[in-house]
Amino acid sequence: MKPLLYVTRRLPEETIDMLSAHFEVSGWESEETPVPREILEREIEKVDALYCLITDTIDAALLEKAKNLKVISTLSVGFNHIDIEAAKAQNIAVTNTPGILTDTTADLTFALLMATARRIPEASEHLRNNEWRSWSLFSLTGRDIHHATIGIIGFGAIGQAVAKRAKGFDMNVLYYNRSRKYEAEEMLGASYQELDELLKKSDFVCILTPYSAETKDLITARELKLMKKTAVLINTARGGIVNEDDLYDALVHGDIYAAGLDVFAEEPIAPDHKLLTLPNLVALPHIGSSTIDTRLGMCRLAAQNLIDFMQGKRSNIVNG
Ligand code: NAP
Repeated sequence: MKPLLYVTRRLPEETIDMLSAHFEVSGWESEETPVPREILEREIEKVDALYCLITDTIDAALLEKAKNLKVISTLSVGFNHIDIEAAKAQNIAVTNTPGILTDTTADLTFALLMATARRIPEASEHLRNNEWRSWSLFSLTGRDIHHATIGIIGFGAIGQAVAKRAKGFDMNVLYYNRSRKYEAEEMLGASYQELDELLKKSDFVCILTPYSAETKDLITARELKLMKKTAVLINTARGGIVNEDDLYDALVHGDIYAAGLDVFAEEPIAPDHKLLTLPNLVALPHIGSSTIDTRLGMCRLAAQNLIDFMQGKRSNIVNG
């Protein structure tokens, strides 16, 4: 008998076909709504493998119920929704999908940077609201991107891909990372800075670290006050790395010029959240990797990780 697999969201048929050749597959059938906790608690008791998304909280209490589980594959590069140490203690491998979404997420990061600096959503609203009276000298003026200084916090795969794009705009690239990236420094002409120095010198600050105990509240009022009043903050990594109350205050008081967020502490963000009332905040609903090709590729890679594991190959294991 094939091992049992539970899938927490409806997947494309091609991915299910791929998985069905190796597993008895069952799953939550909605494409839009996450599986309810009580159903996941029931299903995880039975299965050998779990295919999940960032909307599923796989904590120690849930894992305790998993008697046969050997592997969890998440359809994401970030894995902060899974207690990987608790999984390891139970000898459960956790896999993710690095690489495949790097360029797509870097594209979105740069798109959000440009949209925020040049006030594109606001300008589009202005036109649609019939407020465009004539060409105007200082209406909807933004900030220059070309030749500006970008500071990238978290210089991994996506951070470096953003640096590549920045080079195309003749930007001066600074980075901060917990470990020095000498090869990337040379290849991309990027210069390492301590965090405070990067914040003081950058016109654009992009956050691209994982979310962890160390990066929670990495950017608070103190860090925002170090930034230039003309600077733009972009977070396409995870909510919670930037303290949202402090960011709101900084945007209201003009401590920084604007911010662009693809991620929030609570997702989906409440439609009446105070951040969404600010004209100098561009907000996106966590669409960093959201292109058809990349999402299909992620579906396949997350499936392949499970198949590889069952065949004794260790692909993209993050807790091993
Ligand atoms: P990655 O290649 O693992 O890069 C992460 C980088 O962050 C690494 O260079 C790592 O340093 C550094 N880092 C980790 N902890 C740090 C800390 N405490 N202080 C400073 N630097 C630290 O990952 P990636 O593929 O670039 O993805 C980065 C993150 O983006 C993911 O974890 C995910 O949360 C987020 N993401 C969001 C979206 C979206 O849809 N918005 C899409 C994809 C990814 P070391 O090299 O020393 O480990």
